[in-house]
Amino acid sequence: MYDEEVPVLIVGGGPVGLSAALFLSAQGVAPLLVEKRDGTSLLPRAPGLQARTMEIFRSVGIVDDVRALELGDSHSYFDGGIIRVRTFADIDDAEVIEAPQLDGAAISPEQVMGCGQDRYEQVLLKAATDRGARILHSTRLISFEQDDDGVTSIVENKGQRRTIRSRYLVGADGAKSGVRSTLGLGTTGRGSVFHAMSIYFRSPELTELLEERRFILCYATATGSPVGLSRLHGCDPWAAAALYQPDKGESPADFTPERCAEIVRAISGLPDMSVDVVATVPWEGAQRVAESFQSGRVFLAGDAAHVHPPAGGFGANTGIHDAHNLAWKLAAVLRNEAGPALLASYDAERRPLGEAMSEQALVRNRIRHGHETRTGSAGDRIIDDIVITLGYRYRSSAVAGGADTGPLPPELDLSGEPGSRAPHVWLTRDGTRLSTLDLFGRGWVLLTSGQEWHAAANAVRSEVPLRAHLVGPAGELQEIGEDWASAYGVKTDGAVLVRPDGFVAWRAESGSPSPDKILSGLLSRLTNH
Ligand SMILES: Cc1cc2nc3c(=O)[nH]c(=O)nc-3n(C[C@H](O)[C@H](O)[C@H](O)COP(=O)(O)OP(=O)(O)OC[C@H]3O[C@@H](n4cnc5c(N)ncnc54)[C@H](O)[C@@H]3O)c2cc1C
Repeated sequence: MYDEEVPVLIVGGGPVGLSAALFLSAQGVAPLLVEKRDGTSLLPRAPGLQARTMEIFRSVGIVDDVRALELGDSHSYFDGGIIRVRTFADIDDAEVIEAPQLDGAAISPEQVMGCGQDRYEQVLLKAATDRGARILHSTRLISFEQDDDGVTSIVENKGQRRTIRSRYLVGADGAKSGVRSTLGLGTTGRGSVFHAMSIYFRSPELTELLEERRFILCYATATGSPVGLSRLHGCDPWAAAALYQPDKGESPADFTPERCAEIVRAISGLPDMSVDVVATVPWEGAQRVAESFQSGRVFLAGDAAHVHPPAGGFGANTGIHDAHNLAWKLAAVLRNEAGPALLASYDAERRPLGEAMSEQALVRNRIRHGHETRTGSAGDRIIDDIVITLGYRYRSSAVAGGADTGPLPPELDLSGEPGSRAPHVWLTRDGTRLSTLDLFGRGWVLLTSGQEWHAAANAVRSEVPLRAHLVGPAGELQEIGEDWASAYGVKTDGAVLVRPDGFVAWRAESGSPSPDKILSGLLSRLTNH
């Protein structure tokens, strides 16, 4: 009846779908991914990989492959911040409009990195395939239906239709998600905010002019409305984004190669500059958040779940974090290490964040473009990028305890609070240095210096996999300076339970008379097992 049966069907092979394929296969679940294009992205579109994204890549063993794509030191470009000029020829008078803090050696073992989507998607594709995922290009999802036991999808490749049966379906099919519309899920948010045309071009003169300049994004105002120019190290060609107004009769067709070259010359302040326009891509800056990220056995991730203006560079990163949050939960349910109700925590954790982050993208958009958004004000307070990218919080049935600060607390607080990303502390094992973050990834982890907690964790009889790590003279892990227990907000006889995605699920400040009962109760409660 079915041409193929798979545990998970992923629709869309952009950064988010490919990440979902990689994270699932790293969890031992081999998904099938269908992508209607014939390969990975040809354009650098989303060039900024946040420190948290690099931590996630580290946890699945691809961080060195992604780092190898870096051309020179991309970090210095992030240090340059977001700047504004009249023309690029006036770059010496640039005004710094945002200087975000994006990482820090005490906070993370990883750093933000610049690299085009066209390059890192290839690493994701290879790593996912190597770990067992199957990726079918030139294959489009035509339709799907779900019932109590699974999802039946029709996909088409070169005119040939096939029926795929899966236990779950992940819609990572981008901003115009057909999966979302088939589910009948509406969106909240301000909708369309602006229209832009990305002009990808090469110009040796501009490259020479800006050779020594470091910036994430440079806005030039010479043409009246700001045109953003970006080319982080690791991205080629240059990308300039010019706004246009459909309600004034303007359209993508107005952006002929000649006009694009004129725009680029005007904002460069070099009238005779050579400009080779490589590609033009129209896009819409919008805020839309799906009213639910789950409908039965179908989940939305990435732009399919939330779109926001690119200001802040949150889009692909947030989507990759969605995929990471979803993958371990799907894998746990498929392996019968969690009850299906665990999956509801995906929407509970990721949707409030999608809403809050898209608001933050709007605030930045308004500040950078220097005008109110067309459909209203997005508030006026910028929450630090470091909080948005590393300090976000979860509240759901998969977290026990912790203060309800909302998904984006006012400042960075990584001190072991349940619902936050587990703190990074350097330790050693057999003389080799490792981050506490290197202990997380597959299964649940109990981190403790208390013999009682350690023994109880090893004795717990549960189908939920739990690994205990003892830190201290009698343990497998040694401290090398920083006291891990204080960093995690517990005493030396306390314990911290960390989820497979590296988020703190629960902590005990000190010892307990019945640690085994507490742990087995917690594991079944947190996993709905
Ligand atoms: C100018 C610009 C700059 C940006 N800069 C940044 C940045 O610095 N950092 C950042 O994080 N984000 C940035 N973004 C946002 C980022 O590009 C997106 O958020 C990201 O690409 C979303 O990834 P995705 O995988 O969810 O969706 P997409 O990349 O849109 O991928 C969806 C895929 O699904 C496929 N698909 C759709 N329908 C079907 C179907 N029926 N069957 C099969 N396949 C299907 C599509 O072909 C597509 O490949 C930027 C965006 C723009 C426009």
